[in-house]
Amino acid sequence: MKQSVSTARPLPSISLADVGGIQGEMKEEILQTLSTLKDPNRSLKMGVKPPKGILLYGPPGTGKTLLAQAIAKEIGATFFSTSGSAFNEMFVGVGASRVRTLFQNARKQKPSVVFIDEVDALAGKRKQHGGEESEKTLTELLVQLDGGQSNDGILFIAATNRKDMLDDAFLRPGRIDFSFHVPLPDTNGRKEIIEIHAKDRVLADDVKESLEGLAESTSGFSGAELHSLFETASRRAVRNGQEAISKEDLDFALDRTVLGSTTRVLQDP
Ligand code: ATP
Repeated sequence: MKQSVSTARPLPSISLADVGGIQGEMKEEILQTLSTLKDPNRSLKMGVKPPKGILLYGPPGTGKTLLAQAIAKEIGATFFSTSGSAFNEMFVGVGASRVRTLFQNARKQKPSVVFIDEVDALAGKRKQHGGEESEKTLTELLVQLDGGQSNDGILFIAATNRKDMLDDAFLRPGRIDFSFHVPLPDTNGRKEIIEIHAKDRVLADDVKESLEGLAESTSGFSGAELHSLFETASRRAVRNGQEAISKEDLDFALDRTVLGSTTRVLQDP
């Protein structure tokens, strides 16, 4: 079967309330960006151009994909999602043609968000990237991003763990207008993320009481790891025929997550 480059979804069900740990200046900037996207005419009258491209960068599992989905939902856009590695093809012209198809499809379903995760696989620095094919694919991406009026109603969002690897031409304003750093959450951020992932689960009373402590003792955890913590605890509770997640389930999940991580050093165990 032919590999599909993008999955278009009418409207992601994720909203900004589902993304924890977005606080302070970053939250302000995102809300401001959203208001220019929601009402571009009003913003243009004030001399503010809505962004065409946004880069989200930061460690794995911090919610970049989630945030892109939430932005699409907030502006009522169709969400086209793919990964940079889906464009790496050894056959001549295939990568470039996939880029074209992605944008053509997005133009047919405006307003739309084109989201490319791991964009470094597609828009890496040309010298390091290597290969004529990769260069052609990147050039096609730049051409599509420069689409002028045909790109009205399209917001491009790219995500990466390696901003330093990206080609300068790709990062140029007009292609990428804003870069948002999505860091590992601090204690307050972890508290928010824990609340998000705990809210639809049945928790024993002692677990409910321990959630604040959990945020404090999970320094260095990403949102994805906090999510996985609750998934593991829930599965154990179901396996044991319980009706609620117990403190033992959560401790078990915590041990599993800590053991499973080879990169993180717990600062306050
Ligand atoms: P990668 O860089 O590996 O692509 P990412 O930054 O895009 O990762 P996501 O794919 O958005 O991370 O996160 C994976 C899952 O982890 C989410 O679907 C969600 O369940 C949980 N998660 C991650 N970050 C957050 C967050 N900030 N708030 C709530 N949940 C989060």
